[in-house]
Amino acid sequence: MNYKITLLPGDGIGVEVTASAVEVMKKVASFYDMEFEFTEKLIGGCSYDAFENPLTEDTLNTCLDSDAVFLGAVGGYKWESLPHHLKPEAALLRLRKELGLYTNIRPAKIYEPLIDSSSLKREVVNGVDFVVLRELTGGIYFGNPRGFDDAHGFNTMIYYKEEVVRIAKMAFEIARLRNGKVMSVDKANVLEVSQFWRNVVTEVHKDYSDVQLSHMYVDNAAMQIVRNPKQFDVILTSNLFGDILSDIAGMITGSLGMLPSASIGEKYSLYEPVHGSAPDIAGQSKANPLAAISSVAMMFKYTFKNNPASELIEAAITKTLDDGLRTPDIFSEGMKLVSTNEMTSALLNNIENIYKS
Ligand code: NAD
Repeated sequence: MNYKITLLPGDGIGVEVTASAVEVMKKVASFYDMEFEFTEKLIGGCSYDAFENPLTEDTLNTCLDSDAVFLGAVGGYKWESLPHHLKPEAALLRLRKELGLYTNIRPAKIYEPLIDSSSLKREVVNGVDFVVLRELTGGIYFGNPRGFDDAHGFNTMIYYKEEVVRIAKMAFEIARLRNGKVMSVDKANVLEVSQFWRNVVTEVHKDYSDVQLSHMYVDNAAMQIVRNPKQFDVILTSNLFGDILSDIAGMITGSLGMLPSASIGEKYSLYEPVHGSAPDIAGQSKANPLAAISSVAMMFKYTFKNNPASELIEAAITKTLDDGLRTPDIFSEGMKLVSTNEMTSALLNNIENIYKS
């Protein structure tokens, strides 16, 4: 199978971790009879420097003509004082919107060798493995009217039926690939828009009776994620609630350098580590490439529907951590401190060894 992949390394460590991700894509593709055609484009600060525009039509059109997009990270001190619409981060918002990426998927999965670096007790986090599905293109972040004056400020939390239907379907489909449980999170005891969300999710569920559906209020969900995170499989929620819950869920399982993400729409998909461009360590081969590499595992799972390839990458990450290799962000006493490149090389070896064993 041939696939077109657009690479957007972006700024700072985005460039370094994208290079690692590409090595992994090439290696894994070679085992599964897949061929990738890569096209690399500028986005963010580097694009502003070249074209005075953080997202050019050329970059956008290349993304629109690809099977998947991989993004490193954007931003940096240099571009912080630009007007809002020219900032590197503005490129990300526009890209997500133009590609119609209405679902954001953030896994919360603990790697056994890193359990002791979690802020929660070993017995609470051991075995945690769930995903947060956040609605990404609707809700209060986009609702009108919005604004403020001297006397008041206001936003509008609104969901249209088709917006809830499509993400509910996505949640049930993903649950079928996992452990078959969806927890829809809302605030239906207070908000009408949440009651509407709950009604629609319940209606969509009629076509997915093999999947177990439950509902939870968002305040309780925040508590349950830190109290007993093992109860979750797929958490389905709106843009605002998902913004907060996905950060809580991510952090109980470890460092920013370990967190992958996927944003998926009807036609397009984009994969990126959760972290930013880390200008404080850029260009020093100190970046942890595992968030980017785990995002590649998500790409194989969700876009190429190749679970064995995805599991191979995840197994190689666990093995590399088991071998004691650590970039500075996850380093602890007794472990082996390595650079971005050393971590990547060890991981590629582990992919090969696991595949051949
Ligand atoms: P950041 O994620 O870049 O860095 C926060 C801290 O975590 C830093 O100390 C950094 O060194 C460390 N860190 C992050 N990723 C790491 C990795 N892979 N390995 C090792 N250490 C890592 O967040 P920030 O400092 O708040 O933002 C820096 C720039 O990135 C800003 O311009 C911000 O707007 C941008 N940003 C972009 C994205 C994105 O592209 N999706 C996301 C967040 C922030």
